[in-house]
Amino acid sequence: METSAELLTPRRTTRQITVGKVQVGGGAPISVQSMTTTKTADVEGTLQQIYQLAAAGADIVRCTCNKAEAAEGLAQIVPRSPVPIVADIHFHVEMALAALEAGVDGLRLNPGNLRKASEIKLVAQEAKDRGVPIRIGVNAGSLHPDLYERFGGATPEALVESARMELAYFREVGFDDVKISVKASSVALMIAAYRLASETFDYPLHLGVTEAGPLPGGLLKGTAGIATLLAEGIGDTIRYSLTADPVEEARAGRMLLESMGLRERKGLDLIACPSCGRAEVDVIAVANAAQEALKDRNLPIQIAVMGCVVNGPGEARDADLGIAAGKHRGHLFIKGEVVRVVKEDEMVEALVEEAERLVAEGVEARLAAKDPKAAAAAEQDRLALLDEKGADANQAQVKIDSIRRKTDR
Ligand code: SF4
Repeated sequence: METSAELLTPRRTTRQITVGKVQVGGGAPISVQSMTTTKTADVEGTLQQIYQLAAAGADIVRCTCNKAEAAEGLAQIVPRSPVPIVADIHFHVEMALAALEAGVDGLRLNPGNLRKASEIKLVAQEAKDRGVPIRIGVNAGSLHPDLYERFGGATPEALVESARMELAYFREVGFDDVKISVKASSVALMIAAYRLASETFDYPLHLGVTEAGPLPGGLLKGTAGIATLLAEGIGDTIRYSLTADPVEEARAGRMLLESMGLRERKGLDLIACPSCGRAEVDVIAVANAAQEALKDRNLPIQIAVMGCVVNGPGEARDADLGIAAGKHRGHLFIKGEVVRVVKEDEMVEALVEEAERLVAEGVEARLAAKDPKAAAAAEQDRLALLDEKGADANQAQVKIDSIRRKTDR
């Protein structure tokens, strides 16, 4: 059977660059990026956030370098950071040069902000001499006015042209250690721009929907844009831009890649049924309690919380572990096979304990240690529930009959 990643469009081949110790493009694992929200001059505060971002799944972290104090902070942050640090340069060439002097692993230049050819080439030359890659970070909201006028707005063609012009300056000094982003806050524009960029360049692409906003809308917009492109084989590194704690950005990036099978699972994947008339427990409450209890344990497995034993173990048979509610009891199952029956109020506790043991001992060992009476108990509950609620737990047929009576059909 194909893996999840194999079911997607094969990844587009790009050149490879190296940001610190992280390879980007050229078939390297798709990396997750995020950006600190602290003042970069606050070295300890920024490092603390960088560690939090790395723990949540960020492979590369960007810090702002908007003033001399920030560059000085970077000089202390870079050697102590667990992940490569990219400096975001706003409008001042001096800050780009200062960040390079501080030893950053990468720069982000916005062609709409740093516009003088001589300055762009100066930064590219300095980056080349130091072996530091640059992201050409085009943004629809800060597109150069000339391009805006020439293309009649921030069109996909205008965004790609902005990147192309920046590249041309870089090439004048023999520098092409670059990745490219063509972000927009419009999901449709961003998708179209990246598709065009992937046809135009063979440089690695950094994906993102910019200014996506607070949760949950920001997450949805980011996912709509990034996941669509990843499914088409486009994209080498990603960043969610959320108006939220940046830890949420790193977590979302990592979860997206894991859910699409594009990165090895490092954390928990909790799935749960949507609940229905057949549910024997408050599925939302149990799923939330399980998520809370499991969230800091870093268990790289998929766990299912299912509202009933009638359909639960079967519907979630691909999950590594799950629990389904029966007649005031919880049925723990591994790969669809019921291994233990516990009291209803012990469901979450039992699930956490079994999850720990499953990760430590493996599926075979935990299946071998199953309670031999569990399957029979599960079947007994399943039949009792079927008997009680019938096959039509939502009583759809009763409702249909009633509608037909009322509409004289
Ligand atoms: S049938 Fe059972 S497992 Fe499926 S949605 Fe309803 S309660 Fe959940």
